[in-house]
Amino acid sequence: MDLEKIIGNGEIKELLTKTVQTDKVLHSYLLIGKDGIGKKQIAIQFAKMILCQNEEVKPCNCCKSCAQMDSKNHPDFDIILPDGKTIKIEQIRNLQNRVAEKPIISNRKVYIIDQSNLMTKEAQNCLLKTLEEPPEYVTLILITSNEASILNTIKSRCTKLVFRQLSNEEIKGYIKTNLKIDKISSNLLELIGGSIGKAYEIQEKIELYEKIEELADKIEDVDKIELFKQAEFIYKNKEQIDEILDYLNVIFLSQAKKGNYQYLDCIRQIEQTKRNLTANANFDMSVDHMLLKVWEEVNR
Ligand SMILES: [Zn+2]
Repeated sequence: MDLEKIIGNGEIKELLTKTVQTDKVLHSYLLIGKDGIGKKQIAIQFAKMILCQNEEVKPCNCCKSCAQMDSKNHPDFDIILPDGKTIKIEQIRNLQNRVAEKPIISNRKVYIIDQSNLMTKEAQNCLLKTLEEPPEYVTLILITSNEASILNTIKSRCTKLVFRQLSNEEIKGYIKTNLKIDKISSNLLELIGGSIGKAYEIQEKIELYEKIEELADKIEDVDKIELFKQAEFIYKNKEQIDEILDYLNVIFLSQAKKGNYQYLDCIRQIEQTKRNLTANANFDMSVDHMLLKVWEEVNR
C-alpha cells in the first residue's frame, strides 16, 4: 500500500515523503496517537521508502528492497513487539546487536518499536544508549498510544509526530471502499470514534450491532412481551455483553443530546448493570432488570 492510499494525517505523510526525497531522514521518531488510526501502517510505508534502492521514485515497488519489504522478509528492517505484556531489556539488547551490524541490501536500516510504552524501564534506559549515539545508517521509529509511559529522556531524543483522529468523513469514505458494512449510522460512527481498527472490529460483529440499534430504535414503541422478544439476542450473546452495553450507552447518549433526557436514566441503568455483572450478579436477571427499567424510563 502506498503512503497516499492510507487515509488521514496528510501533513505527516507529506512531511515523511519529503524527508525521504530530500535525503533528510532522521535517526529517531516517536509516533503518538490513538490506536487504529494508521500509525503503524504509515511507519512501515515510511520504512519502505527509506530502504528503497531506486534513486528516482521511492518506493519503486520493484527493487529488491521493496520486494523484501512486501514479503515481510527484509534483513535491514524489523518490528519489535511486546513479548507477553512488556517489551523486555533482552529484546532491546538483541535489537542493539542488530543495529550495530551494517545494512545488508539497503543503504540504511529501520527498526520500528510498536507499543513502545510497554517497554520496561530497564528496556527504555537500555534503548537510550542507541538514541544517544545511533550509527549513521539507523532510523528508529517508536510508536505509542500512551505517551505518558515513556521516559522523558527517550522522548526528548525523538522527533515527535502527533497523529490526529480521523474525521467522520474520512472514516465513512474508508468504510465505503474497504469494508463490508452497508449502512453506517451516526451511532456507529460515534462508536468507531475515528479509529479504522475499531471499524474492522465492528465489521466482524455487524449483525450484533444492527440488532442493538434495532432494539434501541423500537424500545419506545413496543410492549413488554415484544421488548423481550427483540432483546433475545442479548441473552444469546453473553460473551459480548460489554460491547452490547457500550453500544446501548452510545445510542442512549445521542438520544439525550437531542433533548430526550429520560435517556440519561437509561444510561444510569446500563452503568448499574455493568457494575452488577462485574460483581458476578446473575446474568439473565441483571439483563431482565435492566431492560424493564430502561423500557419504563423511556415510556414513562
Ligand atoms: Zn524500491
